[in-house]
Amino acid sequence: MTLQVGVVVPTWHYWIDPIKLQPLWELYYATLIEDHIDDVSVQIIDRRGNKDQPYPECDVYFYWVMKSADAFEIYDIIKDLRQLNPKSIHLGGGNHVDHLTDQAAEHFDACLLGTAEGLIVEAFKDLRTGKLEKVYKANGPFKFCEYGHSRREFLPPERVVNDKHFSQYGGVPGTGVYFSRGCSFKCSFCVYNNPGKFEYREASQITAEIEYLKKNFGVKGVNLRDEVCIPVNRKLAQNYLEAIGKGDVIWRGQTVPFGDEDMVKLAAESGCQEVALGMESADSDEVLILANKPSKSIDRNKKYVEMLKKYGIKVKVCLIFGLPGETENVVERTIKFIEEIEPDYVALSGFDPVPGSPFYNEPEKYGLKFIDKDLSKHAHLVYRFGDEEDVGLPFEYDEKAPWGTPLTRDQIVNNIKTLQGWLRERGMSY
Ligand code: SF4
Repeated sequence: MTLQVGVVVPTWHYWIDPIKLQPLWELYYATLIEDHIDDVSVQIIDRRGNKDQPYPECDVYFYWVMKSADAFEIYDIIKDLRQLNPKSIHLGGGNHVDHLTDQAAEHFDACLLGTAEGLIVEAFKDLRTGKLEKVYKANGPFKFCEYGHSRREFLPPERVVNDKHFSQYGGVPGTGVYFSRGCSFKCSFCVYNNPGKFEYREASQITAEIEYLKKNFGVKGVNLRDEVCIPVNRKLAQNYLEAIGKGDVIWRGQTVPFGDEDMVKLAAESGCQEVALGMESADSDEVLILANKPSKSIDRNKKYVEMLKKYGIKVKVCLIFGLPGETENVVERTIKFIEEIEPDYVALSGFDPVPGSPFYNEPEKYGLKFIDKDLSKHAHLVYRFGDEEDVGLPFEYDEKAPWGTPLTRDQIVNNIKTLQGWLRERGMSY
């Protein structure tokens, strides 16, 4: 019997414009299920901007929960679907399921831990023989480069390509991609370093995926969602950046202020227009040390910005307000820093101690007295918000922390609003 499989994309309620980005992991796993499981018919159930649409009837629903902020919504979806079809099966994986497995197991019929490619095949086999287990955990890792790239045809073309990724660069048709996954750094606020090492696609796979996107969707720019888009390992960086360069598209991505000048040069030569630079704080090195950033020096970060500018790469500095170690001088110091390095853009977010991150796992160590257990109040990793929205910040510090005197929630909110206003006046936030 052909199994009907629905891969569910939640609403992504924490994004101002949830349609701009593509549900890349859902596409990846939909492709994997179609390619590796016999006799299935796979569709994506995309609830972004469509949350009241009726659910299509499927035998199996699959969820890749990368962000705990989606978890409560997904649990509600499962509840609704079980009412409509009590026999439906719900499989879940992703960061959230890895970090809060016991909670997830109360909702999913099976939890798939890690990157789970082989486990998915196993779970479908067990499902067909009536032996589905509650938790699937692999003995070893599955390699990203051993699986095909996501087929975007699961979505209508207007949800694959848009002019927003490159709105500052002529609005060329652009889309998101992952040419690597995981990260070997261990920033204390992060859960996206899962797997805890960089796994790259082969150079030939990178160029083939770009060709596919150009040919089938008219893509002229790719937005790398990779955690670190200018690899710090020279050998890997060379293959990876040269492969992107061969694709002959423009690109942008996110990275860390860490690595050599020749990698930056190679990135520029391969078509890089802009990087979002995860600096996180310009308040003090202490904040960077507590956050365990790859670069723990503000001076070093400044030099990295100079390198990017030297090669004509635009810089979007990404900052988080409210991190442990932050002082009451943060606004003043940040403005001074911005005036000095003159980035093209600044993205300011609020700190969010997300489940699974070191800050969440050891709150006392960082002076966090309260972290909201209502996951719907959390965000994708940091807290972004539009002009009309309340600043999130689902946490509060103690009066005294092991590292010093934390700011109050109100102080953090005010600091965010003050700097946001300052950036807006100068047209620096986007
Ligand atoms: S914030 Fe970026 S660099 Fe740091 S651990 Fe997470 S993915 Fe890696």
